[in-house]
Amino acid sequence: MSAGLDDLPLRDDLRGMKPYGAPQAPLPVALNVNENTHPVPSEVADDILDSIAVALREVNRYPDREFTALREGFAGYLGHGLTSDQIWAANGSNEVLQHVLQAFAGPGRTAFGFAPTYSMYPLLSRSTGASWVAGERESDYTISAESAAAQVAEASPDVVFLCAPNNPTGTPLRLDVIEAVYEASRGVVVVDEAYQEFAPREERSALTLLPGRERLVVSRTMSKAFAFAGARVGYLAADPAVIDALRLVRLPYHLSALTQAAATAALRHAPTMLGMVDEIVAQRDRISATLEALGYDPHESWTNFVLFGGVDDPAATWQALYDEGVLIRDVGIPHHLRVTAGTEAETTAFLDALASIDSAS
Ligand SMILES: *Cc1c(COP(=O)(O)O)cnc(C)c1O
Repeated sequence: MSAGLDDLPLRDDLRGMKPYGAPQAPLPVALNVNENTHPVPSEVADDILDSIAVALREVNRYPDREFTALREGFAGYLGHGLTSDQIWAANGSNEVLQHVLQAFAGPGRTAFGFAPTYSMYPLLSRSTGASWVAGERESDYTISAESAAAQVAEASPDVVFLCAPNNPTGTPLRLDVIEAVYEASRGVVVVDEAYQEFAPREERSALTLLPGRERLVVSRTMSKAFAFAGARVGYLAADPAVIDALRLVRLPYHLSALTQAAATAALRHAPTMLGMVDEIVAQRDRISATLEALGYDPHESWTNFVLFGGVDDPAATWQALYDEGVLIRDVGIPHHLRVTAGTEAETTAFLDALASIDSAS
């Protein structure tokens, strides 16, 4: 005997909600959640382990609530003259975004993003009590500065999410769009740069827009380029006053001593940890070129994944690939599927399996 959610005195605003649920199937080739599929290099793993071992000896004590060393590490990694009082971190950028919503959105307020975009924005918004408003993109998933500013001015949200480049489409977002949205808004503008390291090197980050914009927040994660998804570490840069606001909502000691030690050690090896980015970008571009040759419509991507259209029956293709041991993602966009760029061998396995299925419409 077990009860259902309807039998519980659940919050009314949580009724009918679905939890985040990308399938976690133990398939040989898992290209569904945009991880870096390259393992942490062993010389880095050794150093991280040493740091964790030291931290473990003091694990009877609460950790540094201000995660000082880690914030200094992030400030150094990001550059742009940032200092540690402009840095925040938490257990994945999902928790960072949740902190932003808890501080600046919440009950009676609204959060806004341009759909299709990261599926966690509406979930996090609603679970923290805010309502979610979805804006629109052009048919190629780009957004113009004029349209973005007009939509944001109209919705007047308390928090705006700009995913740059965008998940699940891969679409770049130009800095003039961010500037226009900031000017048109009264709320906090979050630029989610989870995939920034995969964008062309010469492109400017939204970090360059921070000076003089106290409502602007730029979030990043160690989960994608940094090959650290399992450690759960995300961070953001913003005005020190924003960081003070986030301190009001975080749980005490939210970042464990072991997490702080592991992430601080990994950051010391940033160039090695990021060493696979060029290789991943090469595999991404190979995926796009091969998909096109197979008759699909890959969308431009500045990330480590490719969204492609022209799929006759996405659910059937997804299942056929699954049966071949290849896990990709059906993100619910009609006639589209999304695939993460893996190692060369994984990417080959995906492309070969797809070619054998022949499901282009
Ligand atoms: C993967 C992803 C994140 C990162 O989530 P973590 O909680 O840091 O693992 C954030 N934003 C977007 C758009 C993502 O795709």
